[in-house]
Amino acid sequence: MPRLRFLVRGVVQGVGFRPEVYRLALEEGLSGTVWNHAEGVTIEAQGPAEALARFERALREGVPLPARVESIVAAPIPEVPAEAGFRILPSGPGGEGRAVVPPDLAVCPACAAEVATPGERRHRYPFTNCTRCGPRYTLIERLPYDRPHTAMKGFPLCPDCEREYRDPLDRRFHAQPVACPSCGPHLTLRSAAGTVLAEREEALQAAAAALREGAVVALKGLGGYQLLVDATSSEAVGRLRERKRREEKPLAVMFPDRASLELDCELSGAEAAWLEAPEAPILLLRRRAGGAVAPGVAPGNPRLGAFLPTTPLHRLLLGAAGRPLVCTSGNLSDEPMAYEDAEARARLGGLADLLLVHNRPIVRPVDDSVLRVDGDGPTLLRRARGFAPLAVPLGLEGPRGSALGGPCVLALGAHQKNTVALLKGGELIMSQHLGDLASLEGAGVQERTVTDLLAFFGARPERIACDLHPDYASTRLAEGLAQAWGVPLTRVQHHHAHGAACAAEHGLTGPVLALTWDGTGLGADGTLWGGEALRIDGAAFSRIGYLKPFPLPGGEVAAREPRRAACGLLWATQGPGEAPPSLAGAFSAGDWARFQTMATRGVNSPHTSSVGRLFDAVSALAGLRAKRGFEGQAAMTLEFAAGERNEGAYPWDVQDGVADPAPLVAAVLADVAAGTQAAVVAARFHGALAELALTWARLGGLPDVVLSGGCFQNARLTALVQATLGAAGFRVHRPRRFPANDGCISLGQAAVAAATTIGR
Ligand SMILES: [Zn+2]
Ligand SMILES: [Zn+2]
Repeated sequence: MPRLRFLVRGVVQGVGFRPEVYRLALEEGLSGTVWNHAEGVTIEAQGPAEALARFERALREGVPLPARVESIVAAPIPEVPAEAGFRILPSGPGGEGRAVVPPDLAVCPACAAEVATPGERRHRYPFTNCTRCGPRYTLIERLPYDRPHTAMKGFPLCPDCEREYRDPLDRRFHAQPVACPSCGPHLTLRSAAGTVLAEREEALQAAAAALREGAVVALKGLGGYQLLVDATSSEAVGRLRERKRREEKPLAVMFPDRASLELDCELSGAEAAWLEAPEAPILLLRRRAGGAVAPGVAPGNPRLGAFLPTTPLHRLLLGAAGRPLVCTSGNLSDEPMAYEDAEARARLGGLADLLLVHNRPIVRPVDDSVLRVDGDGPTLLRRARGFAPLAVPLGLEGPRGSALGGPCVLALGAHQKNTVALLKGGELIMSQHLGDLASLEGAGVQERTVTDLLAFFGARPERIACDLHPDYASTRLAEGLAQAWGVPLTRVQHHHAHGAACAAEHGLTGPVLALTWDGTGLGADGTLWGGEALRIDGAAFSRIGYLKPFPLPGGEVAAREPRRAACGLLWATQGPGEAPPSLAGAFSAGDWARFQTMATRGVNSPHTSSVGRLFDAVSALAGLRAKRGFEGQAAMTLEFAAGERNEGAYPWDVQDGVADPAPLVAAVLADVAAGTQAAVVAARFHGALAELALTWARLGGLPDVVLSGGCFQNARLTALVQATLGAAGFRVHRPRRFPANDGCISLGQAAVAAATTIGR
């Protein structure tokens, strides 16, 4: 009888792939073996040729999510006589060094159905999971991935769960977090002061009732604490905003089911697929008029961050509440998410009325991912749950397998929206979004994440990369590690890293032109950059174009006060003078004069080429947003105002690559003075930026253009630049699997450091 050996690559470990192979083999009456190893999964199967063919087809087409088969190579091998049945073998050698740490996956349809079915052992059990779903990365303490090395070590399996765990035909075969009501974790409801109010189902029902009455509930979720309120109640949403000190930044909403979500949001086919995918990110969907969600959830925003319940706990709670709930990270603005119980009680006690908690420890914080579907594909804006820490092969070292190896690099990322990245064997392992490192908690989370990643992936970095900025916590950590390990440290300019990240994502190894349009980052010349055209070639880069710098009176404060950027821009382009009428209301008596004087004297007024700050300034000049708000809000206001309009473009004066915005500013002021609609001003401004992109792309003279930086989170700008450059014959590459914002900096740093190591 014929015997075939299949080598299967892809996401095939820790996701119930071997039991599925076992089931398929039994179905076809095949004998043979299956085992995990460093490269993926190998199957040997023996039986009649037609049965083998059906088996192979099922492998290629029919393996259920979350397993994702990338390639199957089949080869005939000699028959094994008198083989008895089909067996799952222990993992083979080579697992060390390319271990798989699976990401956390949303509840699968089978588990969801089980939880919803009366009479089932796990009916209404919030911690139901199987090999296809549930917690992974958030509960693994160390490898190999076995129950005693997870947060489930304190929950010995009951005989029923043990039987499922041992049965290769059960979908809980070797599911490490398997649990049931008699052996697993359970819920407790506590008051803000910590008193136990109820347990199990009673706790869930009481929390749901409190939510319906407008209470703020802190929920211990999968990867951290979340704050929940009734999303349909303006009063409850206002209460949450006040306590969280988060005035206008959009909040995400979890809907009980798809039908209720579609009352508030439009949903395309691609969006629906992501909504129900195992990664289950928060999706930025177009809002429908007249939905149930209170306007204060995302004021002035045509999109809503929406998702479905990701765990059985969320499903049960949303079902009991019977309405959409705001579901946001449990923290004060700018602090990291709380995930340890004592810490959560201390930090969230003042924010929440009640805490719905459980006794399964969270080993590491993992936030929700955020994704937007743009025309032709998905764009990740925050890469966390469901994605981290899956390794992503990069084409940097040539085809996989040929030069597998390459330097091992650890990159510590940016100061905000931080991620940490490990480049190893030509693959990139990026941590979950860690957030802001300004607080001690944030820096601590980063340090623990570095330790974890190195241990999980058995990595010994031969080089470390960090930002150019000397004062960042990540820079200090990098310096300490480089010294301790005796390895070189590569300091990578922020926007060089941005451009290199997008190039690396798309496997571009030759020279590229990078448009890096961003907030502010320390430039190679000591000024603040953020509106550059960089020629990037491996470890080297040169600045071939930039926005003519203008002062930011007050420095960092200007990121939250667009009027300061407007004041500085007018000072630079029109000379010192009075505030134009459209801005007069934004300045109290004396403020304008004070900011102008600061700019003139150069007092706390760093100069910047930032396109992000230019967005702020134009937003203020157009009368859209002058004061306060979250970073990027002014730019979003302009983006939303522009919509899909094409109204031409404001002019620039570009000399030797330096773009002087003086004619643009004069035209904006003239439009505003003439009473032109803000939407038209916004559209002309976007048009101007697309024209500038084209000017710089032509100056660069390279066929490949990469886009990166926070400004390219703007869907309108990105689409316009892509279309304009594409029409002129350039190949435009935009961030897709990694964020355009500072979440990609660790990737870019790693790519630059790798190029430095191999001398490219
Ligand atoms: Zn499941
Ligand atoms: Zn059990």
